[in-house]
Amino acid sequence: MIINADLHIHSRFSGATSEKMNIETISLEAPRKGVNVVATGDCLHGGWMKEIKQCNVIDDGTFELNGTRFILSTEVEDQRRVHHLLYFPSFSTVEDFKERIKPKSKNLESDGRPNVDMSGEELASIAKDLDILIGAAHAFTPWTAMYAYHDSLRDCYGDLADYVSFVELGLSADTDFADKIKELHRLTFLTNSDCHSPHPVRLAREFNRFEVKDATFDEIKKAILRVDGNKPVLNVGLPPQEGKYHESACISCFTHYTLEEAQRRRWKCSCGKRIKKGVKDRINERADFREPQHPDHRPTYIHLIPLAEIITKAVGQRNPFTQTVNKRWDELVSAFGSEISVLIDVDIEEIARVTAPAITEAIQAFREKKVVIRPGGGGQYGVIELPKEKEMISLSLGPKDKQTSLLEY
Ligand SMILES: [Zn+2]
Ligand SMILES: [Zn+2]
Repeated sequence: MIINADLHIHSRFSGATSEKMNIETISLEAPRKGVNVVATGDCLHGGWMKEIKQCNVIDDGTFELNGTRFILSTEVEDQRRVHHLLYFPSFSTVEDFKERIKPKSKNLESDGRPNVDMSGEELASIAKDLDILIGAAHAFTPWTAMYAYHDSLRDCYGDLADYVSFVELGLSADTDFADKIKELHRLTFLTNSDCHSPHPVRLAREFNRFEVKDATFDEIKKAILRVDGNKPVLNVGLPPQEGKYHESACISCFTHYTLEEAQRRRWKCSCGKRIKKGVKDRINERADFREPQHPDHRPTYIHLIPLAEIITKAVGQRNPFTQTVNKRWDELVSAFGSEISVLIDVDIEEIARVTAPAITEAIQAFREKKVVIRPGGGGQYGVIELPKEKEMISLSLGPKDKQTSLLEY
């Protein structure tokens, strides 16, 4: 069977997260985005664990609420400030892992994403002992990520580098960027939302599609390890230009710089503040190949722009959190079952019957890859722009064959 899984979120017990990140809300919102499985995040936190335990038990490592499956996961920050993602086979392994890191952590019970005074290698060694999956979270982000502080997997995970089975690409990178680095070719790429809110522009803005025999931890583990015929079949995510750290830019005034210019200025903006190296520049700096070389196992990557963002632009709202946008989003998702269906699968004529012409045209422009993105950087998300009005009219009258290119997924 085919499942869609968002394997990195944070609960309301992590810093700077929405109060709405409770298990009930997540279980109800995930299917509306088209996602069947969500990794809990924050599973080392006692309060969050209590909520997870309200779910129905499918097996030791799989839980269910309102039809959404959950597997146990957390993110931890190591002594170099690198973030790691971990996936656990059972509650008892979560407890065993906690025991092992307790002496090295001061905020295990107070923050959903704890800091531990350990190296990546030490964490991976415990993970290996306990049969927990581990990999680098948002690997290229200019802070709190593996390639921000290390040049290689071995540099980060030492002798345990071979035990690492995946890296998470993060919002600012995609497969074409990551496959310029040779040491990543053997790894599975994960695309996850890392969301702090269940709003549809956040939850499942990136997700993975896996071929599995059941929506359980064991089957997903096999898909990540690519054994027994299980495997990732699709990575889905934002266009990397939309990510907050795609280009090198000032963290204060958000002026963008080329790598050469930033180096010449010694990473100091004309406003006096710091320029943060973008994911694009970091990858090109670290790249082994000028053009991406994809290994045979690498699935296709589809770029999706959240439907709420497309609606926001189409109806001229300033941000996707308004009632108008919510209402329009709800109308479409209620009619067709999930956001992913609206964005990719449903015939544009069907969509036109349900929503306003401007929204239909904007969805069509997205499908035809006509949406323009002003790249993000320095901590500011990229911004999407719809094609000009004149182009929009010709688009809506254009031939239908182009829009089918995404349907095969
Ligand atoms: Zn993180
Ligand atoms: Zn500046």
